[in-house]
Amino acid sequence: MDRTAPPSSPPAAWADEALAANGAAVRARISAAADRAGRAVDDLLLVAVTKTVPAERLVAAAALGLTTFGENRVQEARDKRERLAELAASDTEAARLVDTMRWELIGHLQTNKVARAFDLFERFQSVDTLHLAEALSARAVALGRTAPILLEVNVGGEASKSGFPPDETLVNAARAIAALPGLRPEGLMTVAPPVDNPEQARPFFQRMRILREALVAAVPLGANGGWHELSMGMTDDFEVAIEEGATILRVGRGLFGARPVNRSPM
Ligand SMILES: *Cc1c(COP(=O)(O)O)cnc(C)c1O
Repeated sequence: MDRTAPPSSPPAAWADEALAANGAAVRARISAAADRAGRAVDDLLLVAVTKTVPAERLVAAAALGLTTFGENRVQEARDKRERLAELAASDTEAARLVDTMRWELIGHLQTNKVARAFDLFERFQSVDTLHLAEALSARAVALGRTAPILLEVNVGGEASKSGFPPDETLVNAARAIAALPGLRPEGLMTVAPPVDNPEQARPFFQRMRILREALVAAVPLGANGGWHELSMGMTDDFEVAIEEGATILRVGRGLFGARPVNRSPM
């Protein structure tokens, strides 16, 4: 390398080369899968999943054009938002980038944390009980807001996971939730069971699409929402999810690398 040559461009304050390379690779995988499925990339929302990822790297992700961030836990999201506010206060570029960020909750929410969650998240993807939906509804009404929500489905029927069972229980819950004020149901979300090969996740994603169609037929929402969104597909299986109709992809490791191992699930 010629060390005497001036850099071609000044180093950008929030550049993160590993993240940029990962982001390009994820985007290439998304567009290849969309092409195969005859779908438009513009119809897919990429949510950057940032559990365990420090605030500084979120700013770097925003610098790459990522706008939607998914967090699993209220406390972690709150700590990170405080740190982002500090970064924004001392750096105008960070302030501009932090301003572009939108936040979605993708992890289990206890009803006693609903009020705090409303301060942090614009959409709640992980509504997994009627009880939680009622608590969100009450808070939304108190704030004069309408909260976009997705219903989480435990599509693999796993004992370790929350979510509505993938059957008539979901349809009945959706009907009750659709009648609550202050909520705008927008679709379904799932975490497919762990599999060795992404192809093995395909039947679960197909099941999700069928469930969505069942809701469209059985639970009309009129102007207040729709069941359009299917949030499914993570780092290892999002191509298959795209082929089966996902509209929202939630990608963590594919963007930020492996997470620390010593962590309880979600
Ligand atoms: C961690 C997590 C993801 C992202 O998983 P990766 O395998 O890192 O892409 C997506 N959705 C939920 C609910 C998660 O907890």
